[in-house]
Order: sequence, then structure tokens, then C-alpha cells
Amino acid sequence: MAKGSSRKTRKLNPLKDRPDDSRDKHLDTPSASGRTLKHDLLIDLPLDILCEIFKLLPPLDLLQLARTTKSFRKFLMDRASKSIWTDVLSAVEDLPPCPDDLSEPQYAYLMFSNNCHDCLRPLSELVKDDEALLLYLEARAQLCRACSLKHFNRWKELPEKVSLSLVEFVPATTNRLTKDEVKSSSKYHRKFREPQQLEDKRTRFHVNTALALHEEHKKIKGNKAKNAWMENQRKLWVAKEEHVNACEVYFGKIEKRARMREGELRVQRMEQAREKLVGLGWAEELSFSGGQLPFELYHWFQTSPAKPLTDEEWELVKDHIVSLMERSREARLKIDIRKQLNHRIDTWVKPAYTSFFFSQPPSTIIPTLHEVCLIDAFRTPLCTLPVDQDLSADLFESAIAQLPAFAEEWRNYRTEQVLSLVRRSSTYKAVPADDITADTFLPLASTVFHCGNCNETITYPSVLVHRCLFAELWLPKIEDFVYAMPTPITPQEIAIPNVPSITNDVLLFFLSISNYVSIWKGLASVKFDDEAHKHVLLMLDALGVSRTKTTVDEMEGQQPYVECVCQCFWEPGAKKPPVHPERMTRSTQRQNTTSEKVVSQKRKAARWIKSVRTILLLRNATHC
Ligand SMILES: [Zn+2]
Ligand SMILES: [Zn+2]
Ligand SMILES: [Zn+2]
Repeated sequence: MAKGSSRKTRKLNPLKDRPDDSRDKHLDTPSASGRTLKHDLLIDLPLDILCEIFKLLPPLDLLQLARTTKSFRKFLMDRASKSIWTDVLSAVEDLPPCPDDLSEPQYAYLMFSNNCHDCLRPLSELVKDDEALLLYLEARAQLCRACSLKHFNRWKELPEKVSLSLVEFVPATTNRLTKDEVKSSSKYHRKFREPQQLEDKRTRFHVNTALALHEEHKKIKGNKAKNAWMENQRKLWVAKEEHVNACEVYFGKIEKRARMREGELRVQRMEQAREKLVGLGWAEELSFSGGQLPFELYHWFQTSPAKPLTDEEWELVKDHIVSLMERSREARLKIDIRKQLNHRIDTWVKPAYTSFFFSQPPSTIIPTLHEVCLIDAFRTPLCTLPVDQDLSADLFESAIAQLPAFAEEWRNYRTEQVLSLVRRSSTYKAVPADDITADTFLPLASTVFHCGNCNETITYPSVLVHRCLFAELWLPKIEDFVYAMPTPITPQEIAIPNVPSITNDVLLFFLSISNYVSIWKGLASVKFDDEAHKHVLLMLDALGVSRTKTTVDEMEGQQPYVECVCQCFWEPGAKKPPVHPERMTRSTQRQNTTSEKVVSQKRKAARWIKSVRTILLLRNATHC
């Protein structure tokens, strides 16, 4: 007779009635009897008082008490103690009543124990090993993953051949149980309900229930009796499922209450921390966040255990909490400082910069506002005086007066760097350096530069404002551009109360920049492009204009449309075009020299600088 399906009688020792009686080693009633309660102070109490005390215990405590001594166990597992258990269980809010197939202690064990019912390993230990404890309400068992594999088998692997007609009454699991299965699955939850109704997903079946039902089923003679038995099993299963559903609702409520309790504890804990911080003199800082804890601190409390904050714990976490407060204060102060700095720049630098900008001839390259602010003469009043101090016009008078001179020095300094690229190039290295001047060489159409960073072809003067040559957008580093100014930048030490991360005036200036940085850092990624130079010369020849006089401005003004037919313009791997190198370029604005030898679909045409760019993109292909 299957123990798991025996519901009609309740035996004296309820634990012998469990679906799987090889379990619960710690709860086995000893065969020795006649012992009385002893080894305990409780013994002196009259039995009825003792019972009253027991009735006040939570179920888990009563289970643990039954575990402590044999005499307690004998007493508590006795049928006479049923009322104690009934009282204890009914005191649990929302707990569904004990189902018919379980005794009260069994039910308490199923619902409240925190260990595997087979190997007895406690949940705390399993969690440390990253193992799960799984509750199988229908199978009336709670098992660790490894023990689940012992108790649940695939139908074909059951120790006996069991009729498939019984499958609907056998609890099943869909959990991933072997190590391999677990590897590829997300973590399961102890209270996760096994979908018994999804038949095709039921993978492993509760062995003991299957065998017990099989035994019972075998003994029944005659189809009529068998049908009646099946009908009864069906009813029992439906009742069991109803009860399991009710248990799920109960667990849901427990979890909800636990979450609410946790939330309350966290609020209490944060309130305690807030008081401690006020005691340490942080009241004013806390008032900036409306009495709430700053976000970083709030986050810390949300992720730390939900329990009241004891003095001992406070001592342990105090330094960390205070450092979070300091960081939060620094972040808040920086926002204020940024506002104050920008106000200074808007008031004292921008108007002068704007009027200087408009006083210059069109398309003159001048320093950016950020670069102007970085000049000592501007930076010193802007960034070395206390940020809350009101400044006056006289502090900027001499700086503003120096602006035109600075802009010129700045332009010369950069132009000189560009010139040195030209002088160092293999094209011009034979030409005496003094002959290569800004006026004679830089404006030429044949003076072409290449940026190794973005692979772009650049001419003068746009090379001076090429985007790759500016400091990192978000986190500019002083060392990136310290030598990019005519006079190297020397940061001046400053100290701002409660803002330890700002140690000099350049770092303070960075704080004013909220969108993009425009500080030049030098020509590092740009080279004179000898290859492009050669092609522009050929292009100028084909156009019939001067190699040594035609300027970028003239080419830009004329915008000759160029047909690219030399093999440099061919995609890598293309067949050699049937053209002569001298036919490489021609202007559409000139007399048409039809080149009937050119295969039309292979022709490319582009504006002059674009055609030079195309060469660069195909640089790895063969050149003429
Ligand atoms: Zn186990
Ligand atoms: Zn670039
Ligand atoms: Zn070529």
C-alpha cells in the first residue's frame, strides 16, 4: 500500500506515514519507549502548562524542539499532542488547513522546514554551494537538486514498469536537475510552482508515488473496481491541486509581507543613518537633498541587508558612509562652481571675444573661446580667485588688450608647425627651409595634407581647424595640449574647500565646459601628403594651369570637375584600363578631348579635392 496515498488513517507515529519513509532520519521516533521528559528545566512544569507554552511557538520552533531530545520528540509526535500542532498551525496567518493525507507535524515540516528532506542539508549551506532547495508540494517533499534526481525519474527509468494510465496522478518535475541541465538554465526558485498541467513538459516523476500507486492498482481485481479506484484517485488529485494552489497563494502573501517588512526596515535603517550623520555635522548637506540621503548613499542602503543599524555596524560602515557623503557634496558643489564659472566667462570673456571675432577679416582663423580662456592672462582671474568672489572689469583689461597679439602669435605658432611638416616632406626636403614660407607654399593647391587618424585629405588653412587635432571631447587631459599653445600652459595650484578633485586652475576651467571641448593639441596625426601632391601636379598640368602658382582658393573658386582615369582610381583587382597616364585629368570646363579608349562604366569623376581623396582611399592599389 502506498504510504503517500494512504489518507484514511492517521497512525500514531505520523512520520511513519510520510510518502517516503526512508527520510526524516532526525525525526524517526525511537523504538524505546517509557521515557519521560527530562534533561530540561521544562520538566518541572506541569504538562498542561507545557502544552500551553508549546502552542505559542511558531511551527519551525516546535519542529526544532521535537528534534532536540528523544523525549520531546516522542511527546510531540504522539497523537495526543495533535491539538498542540493544530493550534500552532492555525496561528499562522493565511496558512491553508492541513490536507487530509498529511499529519500536522508532516504538514509543518513540509511548509516550514529549511532543509532537504533527504540529505538534511540546510538551505543556508545549499545556498553557499549555489545549489537550490526545491519544494515539491504535490510530492509532499522538499529536496535539494541532487536528492531530487534520486526521487524523480523519467517514466521509462522507473524501477518497475508502471502503467501509463497512472501518470496523471504522479507528481512530476520540470526542473533542470542534472549538472548539465543546470548549466544552461536560469536559477529556479524554491517556491516556483511546477506546471503539473503541462503534460508534455513533465519530465521526471516522483518514484515513490508512482510505485505506491502501481502497487495499489495491481491489487484491485476487476474492471469495475479499477475504474472506481481511478475515479477516486482523480478526485484526490483534484483536491490535492486545490490545496497546493492555496499554498501558493499563502507563499505569495508571505513574500509580499517579507518585502514590505524589508522596506520598512530599510526606511528605519536609513533614518538611523541620517540621525548619525546629523550628529556628525552633515545636517546642512542633507538639507540640500530635502532631508533624504543622497543617491549614492540611498543606493548603498538599498543593496545592504535590511536590518536595524546597530552602533557596532555603524562603526564599521561609518567611514564608507561619510566618504559617500563627501563625494555627493563634491558633486553638488561642482554643479554650483560650473554655474559660477560660466557666469564669469559669459560676463568677462565672451563679449570681448565676440567683438574681436567680428573685427577680423572673414575666414581668418582665430583661437577658440576655450583656448582664449586658457591663456594665463584670462585664466588667472577666472580660475584662481575664489569662485564666489565678484570680479571686476579691471582684472581683464590687460588680457583683453592682449587678445589681437595673442591671436596672431597663436596663428603663427600653428602655421610654423604646418610649415615644418612641409619642410620635412620628401617632396621639399631638398628645398632650403627658409624658402618655404607660409605665403609661398601653404596656399598652393599642391600642398596637401593627410590625417592618419580619419584618413582625410586636408588643405591649408583648414588643417588648422581639423577636428582630429582637438583634445578629447569629454575628458580632456592637460598633458594633451600643454605645448599646443605658443606659451606652454603651466597649471597653478588651487584648493577649493570640499572639492579635493580640483587641484589646479586648468582642472577648474574644465569644469566650465559642459558640451564640447575645443582645445587644439597639435598636428600629431597629420603629415604632408607626397602622393597627393604628385597627383595634384598632374591634375594642374592637365588643366593647363600653373603648378607653382595655382592656389587652393583658386581651385575652390573654379571647382574643376575632374575625370579620374589613371589606374590609381581603379578599385583593387580591376583590369588595367586602356588609357595613357597623361590623359588622367581634364576639366569639363575646357575643350573636350574625347577619350574614346576609356571604358565608360569604369570611369569616375569628382571635384578636384575629392578625386585626390579617392587616391588615398585606394592607396594600397597600384599607383602610376
Ligand atoms: Zn538533499
Ligand atoms: Zn583627421
Ligand atoms: Zn595615379
